[in-house]
Amino acid sequence: MNLLRTSGLLCLLLSVTAADPPTCVLAHGGKAALPIVVAPSASPAVRASAQELAAMLTRLGAGGITVEDGNGSRGIVIGRPVDFPALSKQITFTKDPFKREDYVLHSRADGVWLLGASDLAVSHAVWDLLHRLGVRQYFPGATWEVVPPAGDLRIAVDVTEHPAFAARRIWYNWGLWGYNDEPYRQWCVRNRMAQGFALESGHAYEAIIAANRAAFDAHPEYLALVGGERKLRGDVKFCIANPGLRALVVEHALKHLRAHPQADSISLDPSDGDQWCECDECKKFPTIADRVVTLANAVGDAIDRSENSDLGDRRIGMYAYNRHTGPPTIRVHPRIIASATTAFIGGGLTHDQVLAGWQKQGATMGVYDYLSVVDWDWNLPHGGKGGRLLQIAADLPRYHQLGARFYDAESGDCWGPCGLGYWLTSRMVWDLKECARTEALTEDFLTHAFPGAIEPMRAFYQLINFDGQRRSSGDLLGRMYRHLDAARRATTDVAVRRRIDDLVLYTRHVELYTATADGRGSRDDVVRHDWRMRTSMMVHSYGLWCRLLNQQAALDPKHPLKDSTPFSETEISGFISNGITAYQPVDPGFTQVIFSTTLVPAAEQLKFNTVPAGRFPDAPQDQQRWWLWLPQAGGLDAEVTVHKRWANRVPKQSMWAAASVHPDPVAVDESQKPDGQPRKLVLRSPHIGLHRLETLDGGDHTVITWPKIPLTIESGIDTPGVTSHMRGGWTLSFYVPKGTKLVGGWASRIANWAPPVSGRLLDGGGNVALDFTGRGDGWFTVPVPVGQDGKLWTFVDTQGQRLLMTVPPYLARSGEELLLPVEVVESDAR
Ligand SMILES: [Zn+2]
Repeated sequence: MNLLRTSGLLCLLLSVTAADPPTCVLAHGGKAALPIVVAPSASPAVRASAQELAAMLTRLGAGGITVEDGNGSRGIVIGRPVDFPALSKQITFTKDPFKREDYVLHSRADGVWLLGASDLAVSHAVWDLLHRLGVRQYFPGATWEVVPPAGDLRIAVDVTEHPAFAARRIWYNWGLWGYNDEPYRQWCVRNRMAQGFALESGHAYEAIIAANRAAFDAHPEYLALVGGERKLRGDVKFCIANPGLRALVVEHALKHLRAHPQADSISLDPSDGDQWCECDECKKFPTIADRVVTLANAVGDAIDRSENSDLGDRRIGMYAYNRHTGPPTIRVHPRIIASATTAFIGGGLTHDQVLAGWQKQGATMGVYDYLSVVDWDWNLPHGGKGGRLLQIAADLPRYHQLGARFYDAESGDCWGPCGLGYWLTSRMVWDLKECARTEALTEDFLTHAFPGAIEPMRAFYQLINFDGQRRSSGDLLGRMYRHLDAARRATTDVAVRRRIDDLVLYTRHVELYTATADGRGSRDDVVRHDWRMRTSMMVHSYGLWCRLLNQQAALDPKHPLKDSTPFSETEISGFISNGITAYQPVDPGFTQVIFSTTLVPAAEQLKFNTVPAGRFPDAPQDQQRWWLWLPQAGGLDAEVTVHKRWANRVPKQSMWAAASVHPDPVAVDESQKPDGQPRKLVLRSPHIGLHRLETLDGGDHTVITWPKIPLTIESGIDTPGVTSHMRGGWTLSFYVPKGTKLVGGWASRIANWAPPVSGRLLDGGGNVALDFTGRGDGWFTVPVPVGQDGKLWTFVDTQGQRLLMTVPPYLARSGEELLLPVEVVESDAR
């Protein structure tokens, strides 16, 4: 016992000593206390980093600071350790290609060492030191640079830094647009966003053909056989079963790597889209991923051969994406780095399963994420993942834990909705400990970027980045304008005002875009505004122009909607005052509760009350999404009738198994015709338990006659297709978990032409809790009477959708059929 105590005390003493490095004074009384020192052998890049450091330290109060050549015995020493053999303590970095960005910050009484494994690492060390001295570049551009007022500078630091991900990138789809090139580059440098290891993963097959055109002309059999023809076409693929083709690609890869000695990797990712070879030999590959990997494995084996040892440690990049989401059934060569996309995953497979499955076969993994895609989110608040900060903070540690070591995020120049998310991402992909500090990092941002206006700006960012509540666009705009108005009134600081004004311009984009989407506004107004505000970098103007007009218009310097007149103070104030008048905040009266999608039958454990007999919507159209529970292997035997309305496409029923690790549905039926004739619907599955079934018709009515199995419609605020599924009259029940105080949600007609909302909501005792007749679209809230929780409630004779937000969003015809989130069943069965 005593011994333990003593050693515990010893550890404590040691850790206090280790955590207490000497303090170095960098500046005093407006003057630099030490010079910046580089080695005589320093590279131009290190000298440039030294000059950047000198310029920033001067602004911070180190007047007269110099950059000198020296041996590093004192001063702010920057460079690589090998350049300073005289240092008292030797620091070494390994040659590991994934540790090129490692650096050391080490303070002493007479200096600080900023020593890195590479020029890039030295730059990181410089910006880390400046970060510790309070310098911030939250978003690109001068407006979002925060430099503390000049004063005395001191630092006590002793850290060795290594990034959690070996390559970290937030990049703009559609690309940069001139004015943002330099601000973007600078933001990346200052926030350590870099590719220490250059991983190439882009679509590669077209380039391979272009570089070897004569060989492909001589051997048309190298191309994929599609529809009986082997020819060059869009999204062209190879006949990978052909050994001659594989040998050609291996030769090409070796030649490419020899010609590009600086390239860390070569991509062997297929061309986009479909068009995979239909020849008998290729069809023998169990999956598309097996084809892609077979070709890449051949290149990996070739790099390993002794006659190619001059190539060194090179890797092969690709995506795990679309048809080759995988995982492959064969071993993956250890040189292969596969980046698993977080969207376009074949249905039924989670991103986690993709990462785990590829690694099990030997791949090194990266993640290809989507923080903003302009035509998915239109730069609206929490539209893209870049605007959902808690999701970023939750996902990054999970990706890393699942083995991902590369992070690449498709994004846009939209720092209005995503800026705080991008900055947090830059902190988190370097150091995963930052993922637990979302709140602290947000406070860092608010206190430094908005001194004097912190509270209203906290409310603004809470609204656009953290709020999970469904809101009407009018409610959202009413709140955004009010918070910005309060923030503007709270400060006279010009720099702070400029940041708030940028966000006013952003809010105006949201206003104009939502007006257009609702049919009230004009697309021209949106693109005209987005062009005028482009240098604020608050919205991705280039992408918006390309998507709302077209790329030709975006690139036309004389386009009539391009007017670069700066926004005047009067205009900006006008946006706010008009916005406050036009849009009123609405209080829905409840907070959303999130439930899992791991569904299980619930009747046996929860002993439900009896409810009125239910019926599904009688005119579902386009898309329907069902959750079903198959009690035994074999699949689903049902009957389906497709009643013709528009016949825009062939009806299709697809079924995914929750237990399957393959991306494709376990079964698909495309044999149905929109002719009103009942037909057998047989969807085979080797799995028991939870399945998801989706029907897609061409604007017709697909009606399924179901066997007696648990069967539930999802009706949450974000459920895909729910609007088309809930067409026609219906009566369905849902579960109110024990302890629920309010049943809250959104009720609306499913389209402008549809009947208005109607129907009654009955509580667990059969009493009318709410009559929807005569109510317009909007929120509904019903207090749960004593004893009516832990019960089934029922929407009877209903028209329109009911999106449930405080209870599990699952509707069924009876308690026997209802599927519920497993955590609800486990908790309420107790
Ligand atoms: Zn083939």
